[in-house]
Amino acid sequence: MTFAFQKQNIVMQLYCNSLTKYSRLKTREIKIGDLLLGNLHPVRVQTMTTTDTMNTIATVEQTIRCIEAGAELVRITAPSKNEAENLLNIKNELRKRGYTTPLIADIHFTPNAAEVAARIVEKVRVNPGNYVDKKKFEQIDYTDAEYVEEIERIRERFTPLIKICKEYGTAMRIGTNHGSLSDRIMSRYGDTANGMVESAMEFLRIARGENYHNILLSMKSSNPQVMVQAYRLLIQQMDAEFGECYPLHLGVTEAGDGEDGRVKSAAGIGTLLEDGIGDTIRVSLTEDPEFEIPVCKDLVKRYAVDDKQLRVDGNIPAIETIPYSPFEYKRRETFAIDNIGAKHVPVVVADLSKTKKIIPSTLESVGYKYDETSDKWNIADAAADYIFTGHQLLNFALPGTLKVIVYPAAWALATDKEKYFPIFDAGGFAEAEQKSDAINFVMIDCFNDETSINDFTYLDELANDKTVVFCLSSSNKHAMPSLRRMFVELMNRKINNPVIINCDSHWQTADEHLIHYSTECGALLLDGFGDGICLGMNEESYELSTVNRKLSTGRTYLENQTPEQFINNTAFSILQATRTRISKTEYISCPSCGRTLFDLQETTAKIRSRTNHLKGVKIAIMGCIVNGPGEMADADFGYVGSGVGKITLYKGKEIMKKNIDSSIAVDELINLLKENDAWIDV
Ligand code: SF4
Repeated sequence: MTFAFQKQNIVMQLYCNSLTKYSRLKTREIKIGDLLLGNLHPVRVQTMTTTDTMNTIATVEQTIRCIEAGAELVRITAPSKNEAENLLNIKNELRKRGYTTPLIADIHFTPNAAEVAARIVEKVRVNPGNYVDKKKFEQIDYTDAEYVEEIERIRERFTPLIKICKEYGTAMRIGTNHGSLSDRIMSRYGDTANGMVESAMEFLRIARGENYHNILLSMKSSNPQVMVQAYRLLIQQMDAEFGECYPLHLGVTEAGDGEDGRVKSAAGIGTLLEDGIGDTIRVSLTEDPEFEIPVCKDLVKRYAVDDKQLRVDGNIPAIETIPYSPFEYKRRETFAIDNIGAKHVPVVVADLSKTKKIIPSTLESVGYKYDETSDKWNIADAAADYIFTGHQLLNFALPGTLKVIVYPAAWALATDKEKYFPIFDAGGFAEAEQKSDAINFVMIDCFNDETSINDFTYLDELANDKTVVFCLSSSNKHAMPSLRRMFVELMNRKINNPVIINCDSHWQTADEHLIHYSTECGALLLDGFGDGICLGMNEESYELSTVNRKLSTGRTYLENQTPEQFINNTAFSILQATRTRISKTEYISCPSCGRTLFDLQETTAKIRSRTNHLKGVKIAIMGCIVNGPGEMADADFGYVGSGVGKITLYKGKEIMKKNIDSSIAVDELINLLKENDAWIDV
């Protein structure tokens, strides 16, 4: 298996079978208990318990709830030998109750616990960032000889575990986390996707040297950009070095809860699944673990149900050269038309064309609230930049920052040509007698069954017209590969007009819509494509979305809000998750596990309710001091459990307030934000 693509004199390495036809990446087959994984077996779904591992019955009962929800693997933390030993009681109780689902021990820092657990459960997870190395946040310069010595030290400490796994038929995940790279890796590779790959490869080389192959790998980060790049690089590296790939476990760490957790997870995991990558997935939500499973299933069912492939790609021409790097983020070069393109953050276009009569209060659903007393519009951080109203002109004065897109016949009647702009289909634009001097939106239906590459020669006529913004869509149910192909076509033809990504959902539930929008748009935005997004729903989904707003938790999402509000919030969440436009506070909260020292769900909700107006501030809420500080990645502030009833507060990686009482910890966090000019009064 080689993915070498020649581009001029540069060898551009691809990371999957195809960018235009859905095709699973074939990986080595591994066995976890009786479960086969990799080698094109269905993508397995899994989760992790949050109970205290020493509480056998609570852990057994939570594991059963996860299995009943559909988990095919369940992970349990083993922070020390005691918990590792108690895995035997948990396993025996599960077997007694008739459950044979493979169990995984989650190990950080403690090789002795791993060596006990590997004799009991079907799989162990080790973190190469802390299995042997102790993280001290130190920058040490290693000479080549010292570096080799360190690898030898790892070999000595890691080999006994490999031997036990071989003897007992136990599988292993080498699970790298962006937030917990060792000081040694950080000193040589920095905080990079390359460093994550090398961290895992060091362990994988040792395992292969021992002829042990029952291995899978993960490259998790709370930043989907880094996570996607790291998995792609890892595939490329394994292919180059071994000529084969080990199975991949996909996940976005500390994704948070509710809508944001789903959007962030789908942007990262969904982007990779679209390219046929991934053999098992875990969605890390700050919610009860059984609620993660329906989200996993919604992600996976987009590609296959009972071995039947669901994604149909239509007639998309193959990509012979890729004119961008899939391994580092670089936004496609465009020129600016008003506030769209070039260095402007991606705009949000809200589709209000299904609203029969738009009045001032309609705009509340897209971030504009009219105050009659002061005769002023209050504009939210997540306010749409453009609205599409179809044939409708509005009979009231609009907020200053908002512009309207309408069909050409309506635009011809509009008196305010600085506020209203026409949207044409490609043929209509060529023939139109009247066009805007400022912005003309031109719709392009990309590569469905009826179109071929030759149908797009007209693009050259529109190319670099300084008024034309392309609106790319596809009638294919999975539109992303068609749109990505069109972005490649634009780059190949050196067309630098800005582009709005149009994404329609045909799904029904809130979870399904969130996953669809986040996967389809996320996959493009993470590769630097798109100067704006416009999300829509077909008529049937639009009707359903008013009644079908339940998340997998059973909680109603955005109760009493219109479909337009749901869509507008989702659009801003996707831009935030892909780090292309920041419009709200970012929460990096761990999913909790047996190490957790406080009620994470309740505390996260409490912190969110006090700080959700702090646009752009990243706050981490982590359950334990052992992994929390490392895993909270690039958070600006951290709230970390450091003992029973005790919290330690961080600014970046620096401890600011140690072991304060949890009853005053949220207030102290607010004080810390104030002391550091990160607070604004509401
Ligand atoms: S940070 Fe959270 S999920 Fe990670 S080990 Fe600590 S408590 Fe468990």
